[in-house]
Order: sequence, then C-alpha cells, then structure tokens
Amino acid sequence: MADQIASIVQNVANGSKTARQYVLERIERARSSESYNALLSLTEERALERADMIDTKIVDGEAAGRLAGVPFVVKDNFLAYGAPTTAASKLLENFDAPLQATAVERLEAEGAICIGKANLDAFAHGGSTENSAYGVTKNAHDQTRVAGGSSGGSAVVTALDVVSFALGTDTGGSIRQPAAFNGVYGIKPTYGAVSRYGVVAMASSTDTIGCFASSPRDVETVMQVMAGRDERDMTTIDAVYSNKPRPVKKIGVIKQTMTDDVAPSIRAAVEAQCDAWRQAGCQVDMVDLPMLEYSLAMYYIIVPAEISSNLARYDGIRYGRRAEQAATLAELYGRTRDQGFVTENKRRIMIGSYVLSSGFFDAYYSQAQRARTMLIREFEALFAEYDMLISPTTPTTAFAIGENTDDPVKMYLSDIMTVPASLAGIPALNVPIGHDDAGLPIGLQLIGRYGDDMTLLSQARGMMEATR
Ligand code: GLN
Repeated sequence: MADQIASIVQNVANGSKTARQYVLERIERARSSESYNALLSLTEERALERADMIDTKIVDGEAAGRLAGVPFVVKDNFLAYGAPTTAASKLLENFDAPLQATAVERLEAEGAICIGKANLDAFAHGGSTENSAYGVTKNAHDQTRVAGGSSGGSAVVTALDVVSFALGTDTGGSIRQPAAFNGVYGIKPTYGAVSRYGVVAMASSTDTIGCFASSPRDVETVMQVMAGRDERDMTTIDAVYSNKPRPVKKIGVIKQTMTDDVAPSIRAAVEAQCDAWRQAGCQVDMVDLPMLEYSLAMYYIIVPAEISSNLARYDGIRYGRRAEQAATLAELYGRTRDQGFVTENKRRIMIGSYVLSSGFFDAYYSQAQRARTMLIREFEALFAEYDMLISPTTPTTAFAIGENTDDPVKMYLSDIMTVPASLAGIPALNVPIGHDDAGLPIGLQLIGRYGDDMTLLSQARGMMEATR
C-alpha cells in the first residue's frame, strides 16, 4: 500500500476533503469492522470536535500541523481523552485518564485526531490478544486466527485500513509480532526514543512506544512527531529520528532464527529477500548469536520482576475499580487484584515476586541481568562488522485462536525472535514480505544498531520500491 498520511494531509489542506469527513469515514469503517473486536471504544465526540477545530484553522489560513486531519487509533494502554483507558483489564474498566500520554499530546499538537482505542492483552501481557478481559481480536486476514499481541487491535485496524496509523507499545515484541501476523509495518524504536510518560507501565527497562502503518514513510512521519526528549521521562534521548540512515552493505542473518523449528514458508521468504539483497550488491552472511538461546529465559525473569513492581500500584485505592464488601485493608487489596487482573497478570506478578525475593534474587534476577549484558555484547560484536541484522519476525504465521492457550510456555516460545532486541534496547522493524500458502502474512525483522532506526526505515523503503 502506498503512503497515506501525506495524501490525507494534502487533501485536508487544500480543502478537497475536510477533517470532519475523514473522521466520519474512518469511524464508519471502524463500525463495519466490529466483528474483528479490534477496538474497545470510539472517541467520536471528541474526534469530531477536534476535526472541526482543524477545519476552521484551515479555512482561516492558519497552520494546522504536520498531521492535520489524520485519524489514528491508540492502544488502550495510552492515557488519552475521549473514552476510558482500560489496558483491556477490568481493573481499569472505568478509568478516565487525568492527562494524556506525551506521545498522544505530540500527535495532537500536529493536528492528528484519535478516533478510538484498540484492544490488547490485559496490561500488554501476551502475544495473541487472547488475554484481553474484553474478548479476543481476530486476524485481519482470517477471523479464525489470532491478531497477535499484545497490540493486536492496533495492528488489525491498520491492516483493515480503518486508519493510516495506530500506536502500540512493544516490550518484547508486541508491535512487531502483530504487525507480522497482519501484514503491516510495525516499529519498536531504540529504547528511550519516544517518551513513556502517560503509558501504562509493563516492564520499564524494555517498554517502548512505536506505531503501525502501511508504509515505511508513514511510520517515519509518525515517529518523527512523537520522538525526542521529554522532561517527564528521564530515560528519553534526543531525537533518534533525525539521524541520517547508514548505508547498508553487510547484512547478517541470525543463524539461530533460521532453524527447522521455523515454518518453511517463512524461511523461504527470508531467503528470497537475502537473494534480492545479494543481487543488489550487498554481502549477506549467516551470523551467530549464541545468547539468543537464553533470551526467553532472561526475558521471562526480568520482565515479570518489573511487572510485579509496576503493578503494585493497582490496589483499589488510587486507580480504577475497587472491590466491594472487604472487611479489612488486606482483603480490599486482595479482592480488588483478584477481580481486576486476568490469570496471565497474576502469573507474572507471582513469578516476579518470586525471582525478586531475598532467597532467590541472586539465583534468578542477578543472573538474568548478567546474561543480558552478555547478549548486548554479542550484538555489539556483530554490529562492529554488520550494518544490519535480520531474522524472521515470528517462527510461524498467525496461529489459530485457542491453539496456544493451554500452556503459557508454548505462548512464550512464540516470542523467541523479538525479545533479543528488546533486552538490548536496539531498534527493530517488521517488514511484510509476502504470504504463506494459506494466505497469511509473513514478516521479516530488521534489527539495527542503537539509534539506527532511520537505517531500518530506509532499507524497508528500498525493499518496497524494489517490488513495485
Ligand atoms: N508477548 C510478549 C509478552 O507476553 C511481549 C509483550 C509486549 O511486548 N508487551 O511479554
């Protein structure tokens, strides 16, 4: 699909279509895609008010912003006005955001218009949107299959062209994996490139804010508006998205991601892309990342540890839902958390509390952090030689709804390709590269050096142009 954002902005600016018309059209598309269960709420009233404000500015000849009139969707773990922010949990069922996330504020300041809030795995814990307290989101290409997750809803509304872009969060793959499953672009930026302020925290050391879109150019436009330092998030860094792309001459294919466990159709698609690069004069080699084998073990220790700490704030006193008929304070906490969290949330809180407990801290958490440093060194060594690394984004195409729900470890295994870049804090982009025999999308993951997000987008653009 071609770049969409620039044409919407142009049409709104020259009056050939108003922002109000765009908002109404996209809300109509959202309503007719209800069977996918991709959206938890629409923010119609506020969206129309904002559209009218933008249309007035344009009639008056005032500057309306770089994204003036472009409708978008946020994952429902971003604080945003117009509808409750639920994180797809019962705990935050009626929670009205007292402020907006920096990412949303920056998009609005440039005239973008949020029209709805997308479904996710509750608190972003999961890889299929099956952990949502409000029902599963269905894949845009086959309604019997999962959308992926945790940002499943955002990926589906982008794939169905309800909106030209949607926001997501990626802690271990939650943008890249659903992007792969639905055949759209999805970026996990360099850690700290976009402010996490006003986004429901999962695991603070790997949480990132990114987006889905139908072209690399649209991804770039959105990221350029959102990225950059924010005094309310001390981990933010200067604008990575104004860096110049690096010329890519040497590409490494991570050997551990091209094994027999990976679907043959996916391996074949990745190999075909490698041949295309070779023909274009690049050197493409198989490279070794031995610590990849331990990445899931590290991830599922470090991430639950941070989750158990971040979710401690949901006590029924300060936010959202409060359990009734509790006789004591402990009972109030207990009941609130029991009723508000889904099973996967509870599992992670328990694992996290366990690995952080005094008797086990050294055995698990400290070890995992040491292993994480070793993984980062392996990446650094590879990047000393290669301009970009690649792997499939997922070991399989979208799996059937219910296929992986009986065993959490089976579900965790599907994150094997995406967690390494999350642990290392480096950028990674899903690029759609065709379909399998069942017509399900296949995704390629481009992985860059720290701060090299623009290199990945420029490569993706090149790939898109080559296939035109
Ligand atoms: N599927 C991964 C998990 O369950 C990733 C989640 C995410 O990135 N939010 O942790």
